[in-house]
Amino acid sequence: MDFDLFVIGAGSGGVRAARMAAARGMRVAVADNKALGGTCVNVGCVPKKLYTYASHFGHDFRAATGFGWQLQGSAFNWPELVHAKQQEIGRLNTIYGDMLTNAGVTIITGFAHMLDANSIAVNGQAYRAKHILLATGSKPYLPPKEWAKHVITSDDIFDLPTFPHRLMVVGAGYIALEFACIFNGLGAKVDVSYRGDSVLRGFDQDVRQFMDGELSKQGINVHYHSNIDSINKTSQGLMVTLDNGVKHEVDQVLVALGREPNLAQMGVAELGIEQHADNTIKVNSVFATNVPSVYALGDVVGGPQLTPVALAEAMTLVDHLYGEGQSRMDYNNIATAVFTHPNIGTVGLTEAEARAAYTAIDIYRSEFRPMKHTLSGSNERSLMKLIVDQTTDRVLGVHVVGEAAGEILQGFAVALKCGATKAQFDQTIGIHPTAAEELVTMRQPIMQ
Ligand code: NDP
Repeated sequence: MDFDLFVIGAGSGGVRAARMAAARGMRVAVADNKALGGTCVNVGCVPKKLYTYASHFGHDFRAATGFGWQLQGSAFNWPELVHAKQQEIGRLNTIYGDMLTNAGVTIITGFAHMLDANSIAVNGQAYRAKHILLATGSKPYLPPKEWAKHVITSDDIFDLPTFPHRLMVVGAGYIALEFACIFNGLGAKVDVSYRGDSVLRGFDQDVRQFMDGELSKQGINVHYHSNIDSINKTSQGLMVTLDNGVKHEVDQVLVALGREPNLAQMGVAELGIEQHADNTIKVNSVFATNVPSVYALGDVVGGPQLTPVALAEAMTLVDHLYGEGQSRMDYNNIATAVFTHPNIGTVGLTEAEARAAYTAIDIYRSEFRPMKHTLSGSNERSLMKLIVDQTTDRVLGVHVVGEAAGEILQGFAVALKCGATKAQFDQTIGIHPTAAEELVTMRQPIMQ
C-alpha cells in the first residue's frame, strides 16, 4: 500500500480527515483538481461572508446619518471587492497547503477516480491505499431546461467581471436569499422568483413570514408562486419570463435550487457503492459505505450541508479508524445561521416540529425595533422566539432574526445541548442593553 488513507476531495471534511489521520501517524494523501479548501473556502462560506460584510456597509452608511455623521461621495467599486476577495482566498489556499504539508499529508493535484476498492488513479498514475475516503462535496443543481444555459450559480457569482445592477435570483433557500441580500445591499435591483408562498421552507413559520416582510421592506421583490418560463438574450441583458406572465430584464440570473453530490466519473457505480435516490452515498454511523475499504462524508452523504458538520464527521471517522472508536455524530440541535440582512440564527425545533413531537408546548415570541434603529431611520425589526416543552420545561428551539443572529445563537446552542430549561433561561441575568437579552427576559408565553 502506498497510503493508509487516500482522501478524494480537499474540502472541509477531506482536509480535516487527512490532517487528523496524519497526526495519528498514518500515511495520508489528499487529491483535488481544484483549489484547496473546497466549496467553503473558494465559492461558499468564506467569500460569501466577506461579501456580506461589504454589503452591510451600504446599510450602515445610510444608518450613520441618523447618528450625526455626514458622509459624502461613498461609492462602491465591484472589481476592488472581487480583487480583495481573491487575494484573501489565495492566502487561505496557501495556508491549507502548508497545513497539509506540515502535517505530513501528500497533496496530489488532479482529478482522482477509484479503480477498485483499494486503488485510485490521478493523472494516469495509480495509487494503492488501505482506505479511501470520498469527500468530494456537492455542486449547484441546475434543472435540465433550455434556459439554464443563460444562468449563473454560486460558483460563478463571486468573480463576475461586471457588477450585475439588475439581478434575478431563482429559489428562496440559504444561497438564494444570502445573495439576494448581498447584492441588494451593494446597490443592485434584486428580484427573486420562488415557487412557494413564503421563503426558507423548513425554517420556523414565524421566521419565514418575518423574513418575507423584511425582504420586501428592503426593496427585494419576491415573485411568489413563480417559476422561470424562458430566458432570452437581449441587447441590454437577459429577458426573464416567469410562468405567471411577468417579464423582467436583468443583467444576470442566479440559480440556487439546492446542491447535488459531486460524484461524476469517480467510479462509484463501477465499485457497486450504494447510493440514495438523490445520488448521495449511503453510509453507516461511522461513514463506511457498503464497500468495506471505502468511506464517505460531508455533502456527498447528504445530511446538513454545513462545513462544521463535515468537520465533525471527519473527526468521527478518524476516531473510528485510528482512535478509540467511540465517537458518534449527534445531528440534534445543530445551530445554523443564514447571512441575510437581517441575519437569521436558529437552533433546535421549529414550532411545527415541536407540535408534532410533544403533547404540550409554550411559545414565547418578541418582535421589536432594535435600539440601533431608533436613530438610524431604518424600519428594520427583530424577531426572537422560544419553544418550550411544558412537561419538562426544556427549551426545544431558539429562533432569532436580527443583527448578529448567528453570533448570538452559538451560545444558545450550547445551552440547548446541555438541556437548558426555560427556568434556567429566566434565572440568567441579561446583558444590557443588547438585543440578545430578550431571550432571557421573555416571561409570558404568547401561545400554547
Ligand atoms: P436550499 O435547499 O436551501 O434551497 C433550495 C431552494 O430551491 C428552495 O427555495 C427550493 O424551494 C428551491 N427549489 C428546489 N428545487 C426546485 C425546483 N425544481 N424548482 C423550483 N424551485 C426549486 O439550497 P441552496 O442551494 O440554497 O443551499 C444548499 C445548502 O447549502 C443549504 O441547504 C445549506 O445546507 C448550505 N448552505 C448553508 C449556508 C449557511 O450555513 N449560511 C449558506 C449557503 C448554503 P422549496 O423550498 O419550495 O423546495
